[in-house]
Amino acid sequence: MPQLLDTDVQFLKGVGERRAQVLHETGIHSFFDLLRYYPRRYLDRSTVTPLRALKDGETVSVLATVRAKGIVSGKRSPRFEMRVQDESGGTLKCVWFRSYRWISSLFKTGERLALHGKVQKYGSQFSMSHPDFDKLDSDGPALDTGRIIALYPGSAKLEKVGFNSRTFRRLIYGLFKEHGLEMVDLFPEWLSEQFQLIDGRVALRAIHFPKSQVELSRAKERLKFEEFFFIQLMLGLTKQTRQEVAGPRFDDPGSYYHRFLNDVLPFELTGAQQRTLQDIIQDTQRGLQMNRLVQGDVGSGKTVVAVAAMLHAIDNGFQGAFMAPTEILAEQHFANLQAYLEPLGLETRLLIGGQRKALREEILADIAEGRAHVVVGTHAVIQETVTFHNLGMAVVDEQHRFGVMQRAKLFDMGNNPHMLLMTATPIPRSLAMTVYGDLDVSIMNERPAGRKPIQTLLRSEKRRGEVYQFLREQLREGRQAYVVYPLVEESEKLDLKDAENGYEQLQAEFRPYTVDLIHGRMFSYEKEEAMDRFKRGETDILVATTVIEVGVDVPNATIMMIEHAERFGLSQLHQLRGRVGRGGAQSYCLLMADYKRSPEAEERLNAMVATDDGFKISELDLKLRGAGDFFGTRQSGLPDLLIADITQDQDILIRAREAAFQLLRSDPQLRAEEHQHIRAHFNRYYARESLGFARVG
Ligand code: ADP
Ligand code: MG
Repeated sequence: MPQLLDTDVQFLKGVGERRAQVLHETGIHSFFDLLRYYPRRYLDRSTVTPLRALKDGETVSVLATVRAKGIVSGKRSPRFEMRVQDESGGTLKCVWFRSYRWISSLFKTGERLALHGKVQKYGSQFSMSHPDFDKLDSDGPALDTGRIIALYPGSAKLEKVGFNSRTFRRLIYGLFKEHGLEMVDLFPEWLSEQFQLIDGRVALRAIHFPKSQVELSRAKERLKFEEFFFIQLMLGLTKQTRQEVAGPRFDDPGSYYHRFLNDVLPFELTGAQQRTLQDIIQDTQRGLQMNRLVQGDVGSGKTVVAVAAMLHAIDNGFQGAFMAPTEILAEQHFANLQAYLEPLGLETRLLIGGQRKALREEILADIAEGRAHVVVGTHAVIQETVTFHNLGMAVVDEQHRFGVMQRAKLFDMGNNPHMLLMTATPIPRSLAMTVYGDLDVSIMNERPAGRKPIQTLLRSEKRRGEVYQFLREQLREGRQAYVVYPLVEESEKLDLKDAENGYEQLQAEFRPYTVDLIHGRMFSYEKEEAMDRFKRGETDILVATTVIEVGVDVPNATIMMIEHAERFGLSQLHQLRGRVGRGGAQSYCLLMADYKRSPEAEERLNAMVATDDGFKISELDLKLRGAGDFFGTRQSGLPDLLIADITQDQDILIRAREAAFQLLRSDPQLRAEEHQHIRAHFNRYYARESLGFARVG
């Protein structure tokens, strides 16, 4: 089977050298790739809309014949127009503005087409712009007899060598005819039975040539399951391999740990903090390297957990490292950590770019010779330049900015220190299973007692006066405020100007209160000074671009005002809101937004007003943005999903993970004869040693 699927498509009947080249350029190299060139849509009687029945605004598939066509050379928008008609007698106008010359050459009058797109009504005429199309000539009769026909993704390149859906159907049909009998089902009987899956070969055939909608949906389910299954197998094997890595074995927590919790901390730990620390302590006593992710909403108190974990390491004679994503956060954490650790007589060092050479060398020596107990810095600086005396606990803050790939590098640090990863972006369970599927996870879903929920208000420009009035009242009570402006990279200059103008206006408006400005283009010492002034309460209003997005902690700040809130992503808004509500006082998030906003923006803003629950927010964010974008699954180093969808197919994902992990429990090395196909397939397509992902020998 592996050899068969690896065969180059050029050896398939009907594929010459020229076609093979185009297929290769489309990413289809082998039989395997061709089988997984899944249809983008299906057509059958039940899914086709008669032209007489079109409705404005609907997205539909239609079947029609070309009646008239021509280029319309209007001065403003030259275009190609084509009128089609079907048996119902209705007509539809199709319009192309882009590449219209080339498109115009593709169609002949009298030709039969399948068209798909959104219908718009102008006067009494229905029209579709840039519809998706397929030529149907020879399939026409077949479709009329009720078959379901697969339509494949196309491209200009494919079109040029005469490659269309029909060609794909023929090629794949030929592949089954010639080699169908040599194919095997990857899954053993017990698995298909337990998880109620149809045969893999049947599924592959049915996805391309479905006999019925029922068969098609069973086929989709099976193939989605398989796709998730192999990714989960990869994560499970990686986890298994990591769990065999030796790590320092710690004793029970000692005196630094207890003195910190009992004498230094001015508050009691929350239940979630206690549970997470218990997880960490257990992990560190097994003699194996810990790989734990703490997933906690903003303000759930992750820093304290990290400090206690590092003290646990120090009690055992090791050092701790705390890595932050930006310099400004590293500096802030350094100040916090120092305040916690100094009373215990422990030494903390900060390492960031731009430090004087002499100072830097001194710090590096302190770390290398063990005089420094804890090092705080940015990820890059710590990973690339530091040699530790004896690192035992490495904390990575705001880990969600790092993909699986970068994480693999982190695990390479020195003598296998315990790894504690922290993220303030709660993610839906389904996504966590994939993106963090190789880690142990502790969830902190509890905020410290006495916190009042943040009130979120959505206001338009018209009510700015009112908003300012409210802000003034808060300032009068001695509170502080953030005012945040969006920063879109493409027009950084323009955005900065926005923030600068806002800063000047606020200064004039709120005299004699002090207003300060902080943005990404400032030197890091300038940012640090501005943050310090705000922290000490010398600044009343801090105007900022999103550099304060994560981690910043000033409990006296009770107002988060966000300008152009419609331009921010949902998770980003939630992160920003998490900057307030950190003390006992009532806090507010004021979203200033234009009236003119897209439906998506509307949904984001409404969600912010409706809930303060990070997990709910992230579910919705995932839905709005789609998984790829949400977490950059691509940059995460995991294979792309071809047919499954993390958002839509959560149930299948959960079952596939169960199956993969069950398999690994019963046969960790996949040695059994009945698992040989899984093993071969995994090693061929999924094992990536270079990324730290396992391979089964
Ligand atoms: P995050 O999880 O967002 O990183 P932080 O660690 O910055 O949260 O903590 C937020 C704030 O809550 C800080 O001011 C911290 O001192 C405070 N805090 C942490 N744990 C507790 C607790 N158990 N009780 C009261 N306040 C706490
Ligand atoms: Mg934090």
